[in-house]
Amino acid sequence: MNAADDKTIVREYFNSTGFDRWKRIYGDGEVNKVQLDIRNGHQQTVDTVLGWLKADNNLPELSICDAGCGVGSLSIPLAVDGAKVYATDISEKMVEEARDRAKQTLGNTENPTFAVQDLESLSGSYHTVICLDVLIHYPQEKADEMISHLCSLAQSRIILSFAPKTCALSILKKIGSFFPGPSKATRAYLHRETDGVKILESNGFSLQRQAMTKTRFYFSRLLEATRN
Ligand code: SAM
Repeated sequence: MNAADDKTIVREYFNSTGFDRWKRIYGDGEVNKVQLDIRNGHQQTVDTVLGWLKADNNLPELSICDAGCGVGSLSIPLAVDGAKVYATDISEKMVEEARDRAKQTLGNTENPTFAVQDLESLSGSYHTVICLDVLIHYPQEKADEMISHLCSLAQSRIILSFAPKTCALSILKKIGSFFPGPSKATRAYLHRETDGVKILESNGFSLQRQAMTKTRFYFSRLLEATRN
């Protein structure tokens, strides 16, 4: 399958069954046990990033690009804390949901600014570029290209998360929980941390902070790198 096919499948998934599933997981309504575990794991990843950024005590001075923002789980709290957030996602449905949630939390505001856009067509320049739990949808070569592109948009810092290859077996066993039913056609790709670090370094970035979130059904390696 080529990368264009991957992208079309991912877009269609997150505008249909994937949207319904992830909107629930990234919400606070009733979900099944597996979904609850994934919700809690994902929230830990979001909280770790928020913790790092808040500890620096300069959020109101930062412009942040949240690439593949989903329903705004990170963008909205960042905007609440004063950062200027530009948030994009390939899925119209996810962006629509993110706008609704931002309106509920922040009222009518232009921050975050949400747009339907895929990672590759993002342009501009931001202090920090963040991309959480998106690379799982792309194979290594495509992920490398995406990371390089995101680096080119980041003035100072990039924060990425991905499902690490070391947990491959456990994840493969659970893969049905990520993409259940007919939408199993949407593959989950795992990435080696060394590959991620190498591509960040080749784009002139050095690793700063890192974290791992691991619950029963959710695995996410988080890397922060800053421009040399
Ligand atoms: N980053 C969000 C978070 O952590 O809450 C959402 C994570 S969700 C698992 C993956 C998101 O990536 C989906 O909303 C999907 O539509 C989006 N996505 C997948 N491929 C993308 C691409 N090429 N460009 C932009 N967004 C993409």
